[in-house]
Amino acid sequence: MKPAPFAYLRPSTLEEALTALAGEQGAKVLAGGQSLVPLLSMRLAAPSMLIDINALPDLGHITCDAAGVRVGALARHAEVLASAEAASAQPLLALALSHVAHPTIRNRGTTVGSLVHADAAAEMPMVLRLLEGSVDVASVRGRRTIPAEELFAGPLESTLAHDEVAVEAFFPALPPGGGVAFQEIARRHGDYALVGVAALVETDGGEVTRARLGYVSVSDVPVVVDVTDALDDPAAKALADLEPADDIHATADYRAHLVRVLTPRVLADAVHHARQRTAQRNHA
Ligand code: FAD
Repeated sequence: MKPAPFAYLRPSTLEEALTALAGEQGAKVLAGGQSLVPLLSMRLAAPSMLIDINALPDLGHITCDAAGVRVGALARHAEVLASAEAASAQPLLALALSHVAHPTIRNRGTTVGSLVHADAAAEMPMVLRLLEGSVDVASVRGRRTIPAEELFAGPLESTLAHDEVAVEAFFPALPPGGGVAFQEIARRHGDYALVGVAALVETDGGEVTRARLGYVSVSDVPVVVDVTDALDDPAAKALADLEPADDIHATADYRAHLVRVLTPRVLADAVHHARQRTAQRNHA
């Protein structure tokens, strides 16, 4: 199928992009196009105008400091994955990004685009939510920061207003004593996950003081479950909060089974990671 007709604008400043977006109710932002273009081609979306942000300056950055990693709207998945500084500040980024699609898609698709596309089957929205990160957005009305817990409104629905462009995502760094892990089951490596699970733990003296788990493809939105008080059976606690559903890829029962299998494994990996980091720091 071919897309429905649309106007195309490639602004060279953010102000120009924001003004155009505010003036055209049916306009959509085009970033890497790896989600939007298939939707256009299948006529599941028919915007009146595409505002291509790829020529905007100063949005391709990946900057790291003690607080965390800041990813600009034009940083590609592949660039974030290749950043040794980002992996060192927050190892969960690379762990999850290596499962996002295939290399050609990662070369073009943007991490920020994936966040605002808000697909519960995508890895990075869950990662942002688990890490308690945020997204900075701009419009002709000014700028604001949306915390991850307020970003995901429903299936493929973020809380960005129509006239807002996401300019940067912030992923907090992994603190000392922290550990992370990620695993997913997909039909082929790089396909969307049937179920994906990430764990973020904090430890003190080797003991777990906080444990949270994030789930991909098990509910309509990325879900995070606190299992600090349920370390003996974290999967049961998680399943009480999740809504596995049938679709063409897997049954609800199979998804629930994957949650039961992956949850304790990923949690154990994260605890091991935390203890390993602590041992390395004590040794240094
Ligand atoms: P686009 O496609 O350009 O845009 C997506 C949506 O976000 C559009 O509605 C657009 O208007 C909006 N948008 C984008 N950027 C902004 C912005 N800065 N401000 C405001 N709105 C914006 N993803 C995964 O996570 N895991 C996978 O396993 C996976 N597998 C894939 C397999 C295939 C075959 C394909 C084609 C894609 C796959 N993807 C997967 C999706 C891929 O990661 C996309 O790159 C990503 O979801 C969207 O990023 P993008 O830059 O391409 O956004």
